[in-house]
Formats: sequence, C-alpha cells, structure tokens
Amino acid sequence: MLNLCPVTVVKLAPLMSLYDLEITDWQELLPKEPLFRSRQIWRAIHEDAVRPEQLTSLPKQLRNTLSQTPELSPGLRLIQLSSDDHKLTEKALFQLEDKRVIETVLMHYPERSTVCVSSQAGCAMNCSFCATGQQGYFRQLTTGEIVEQVIWAISRTRATRGEKRLSNVVFMGMGEPLANTRNVFRALTRINSDIGIGARHITISTVGIVPGIKLFASLGAQFNLAVSLHAANNEKRSSLVPINRRYPIELLTETLDSYFRVTRRRISFEWAMMDGVNDSDTDAKELISLCVPLEAHVNLIPLNPTPGWPTKGTPKTRVDEFARILENAGISASVRDNRGTGIDAACGQLAGTMLTRHSGERFYSDSSANIDVGDLLD
Ligand code: SAH
Repeated sequence: MLNLCPVTVVKLAPLMSLYDLEITDWQELLPKEPLFRSRQIWRAIHEDAVRPEQLTSLPKQLRNTLSQTPELSPGLRLIQLSSDDHKLTEKALFQLEDKRVIETVLMHYPERSTVCVSSQAGCAMNCSFCATGQQGYFRQLTTGEIVEQVIWAISRTRATRGEKRLSNVVFMGMGEPLANTRNVFRALTRINSDIGIGARHITISTVGIVPGIKLFASLGAQFNLAVSLHAANNEKRSSLVPINRRYPIELLTETLDSYFRVTRRRISFEWAMMDGVNDSDTDAKELISLCVPLEAHVNLIPLNPTPGWPTKGTPKTRVDEFARILENAGISASVRDNRGTGIDAACGQLAGTMLTRHSGERFYSDSSANIDVGDLLD
C-alpha cells in the first residue's frame, strides 16, 4: 500500500523544494503515516543532513515514493566546486530551479568549520567595491534555498573532514540578509533549532538596514550581528555604500545602540581596507569615536579585487598599523584571514563567475536589478 498522500494535499508555491516544507507540511503530506513519521524525517533531514529516501529506518516503499515526489527535490544543483588554501576553502556554485546561480563558501580552520551562505541571488545594495553589488539584484532566496546551503556544508564537511562538524554559519555570501528578513529569519530558526548550530555561532552581516536591525533585535536570540561600515563619516560612506543615504550613520548608530542595550550582544564593524580611501589616521579616529559607546569590535578586511573597482587594497603594513591605532584606543580589532582569493571566493568576490567562464554566458543584471531597494525592505 502506498502511504504517501498524493501531491494534491500540499499547495506548493513555485520555487519550493525539500527544505521549504515546514513540519506541518510533512504531517499533511503523510496523513496515513503515524505522527512520529514526520518528526523522524524532519529530524533526519536537518540534524543528519540526509535525503529522506536515504533514511534506512523508513519502510522501503515509503522511501521509493519519497524519492519520486517532485516537491521533495533539492532546491540547489551543484554545478561547480572549486578549492583553494590546500582544500581548506571550497566554493560551491549552485544553480537554482529558475537557473539563477548562487555561491556558498566553506572554510575549515583548526578549531572550527564555517559556511558562508548567500541570502539573495545578486544584491541590490550596489556597494561599489563588491562583485555581487556590481552584478545587480535578481531575487530573494527562499528559506529552503538558504537552509540547503548549510545542509550541503554539513555533508561536505562530514565527507571531507571525517568526524569534524560544521560549527559556524555566517550570512556573508551574496545578498543583503536584512533585505530578506522573512526568509532569512525562518532559516535562522531552522539552522539553530532544527539543525542544532548554537545562535552564538551564527552571524548576520548587514550593510546597515535600520528596520531589519530592529527586527533582528526583537528576535530575542543570541545571534551575532556584523555591520559593514567601511567609513565613519556620511560623505565617504555614502560613496562606498549607497544605502547610507537612506540610513545615515547617526540613525544607524542610534539603532545599534538600542540593539546593544536590548540584546547585550556586542556588534562587530566590518571595514574593508582600501588604499588611500579609508585607511588614514583621521579615518581611524572617526571609527574609534563610533566604536567607543557601542563597545564594538572591528574586523579589518583586506580589500579583495573585483572587476568593477580599480582601488587597491591597503598594504599589509598599514593594515596592521591601523589595527594598532584602534587597539591603542582600547578598541578590540582583528584582521580577517583572507580565504579563497584564488577562486574568487573571498569577501565581496562572489558573483557566479565560474559559470560565466565555463559556459561563455555572461550574467548581466536583468531589469529586476534596477528596482528601488525600498521594494525589498520587508
Ligand atoms: N550584504 C551584507 C553581506 C555580504 S558582504 C553586507 O554588506 O554586510 C560580506 C562582507 O564582505 C561585507 O562586510 C562587505 O562589505 C565585504 N566586502 C564586499 N566587497 C568586498 C571586497 N571587495 N573586499 C573585501 N570585503 C568586501
């Protein structure tokens, strides 16, 4: 007897895949199965990162049926895997159901393994020095497409590193996570509660979307927040990060101050070091004055080359000097490890370029890339 109820039960929106289903969808999908079945499958696909049909504790017939149910198909198709840093960094290029491409980067360190996930196909924020911004915006990723990147990273870590587990998730891939709060917040809950990665090991990086930061604070969870600052005065920041015109520094820091008071979580400022642009003593002084009241940490990122931005990165000696100026003022600062530059997998370099090179096709932004960012701020 076939126990799986036909597809008619679940009305699926387009672009749905296995990890877009909620636990209640599973219960509806399997009405003739005992209640524990949905839980059993749910737990296995999240905690153990296995496909439902691979679950040997399920009756064989059910497994067969599950393997043929289109709604349970993967949302991501791996089309290229490249590696760098002696395989300690891997970049996956995934094709989505509508043929858009996104990238996910997995980085192994002695004490942790971190996956950097994308939250949108492309990005509408248009930061001048970022390859994703230069490419334009295509669409929001669904909750399932975000979660599935983490699932891929778990199984990849297991396959290549044996017992070592994926420990950290950072939303620093393609897209602006706080311009896709609905799907990103659902994904956060799944990654934390269902997959089992602690909130303190999950970081959202934002360009500074004020309403999104307020919503993030209201989650009342222990997730980390990183803010891409890059300049501490409005004129300079607006030229690098155009959304600063909508959410200028005063409004941003006021919002971060309430965030800090409510959550007691220390924020990090990200600062990509650009030669002669934001690396002077005055830049450091302006940054220090923003950090002090917030007790913020500063993450200095060596600027990675992108096709549309001619400015060079700050030389290493100056990056270290800049870090020392901050530290002498009592600000905790670190210089980010520059992983994956050889495969365009480092910060700001993600743009689906591998596919471009292989197929000869170029990913020009379509008309959706010209939307008003306001439309995206849910
Ligand atoms: N939209 C989010 C997350 C994606 S970018 C955000 O802006 O925070 C992740 C980090 O990489 C951000 O701090 C971003 O400013 C930084 N980044 C972008 N382009 C870069 C580049 N070319 N070199 C170094 N860092 C870059």
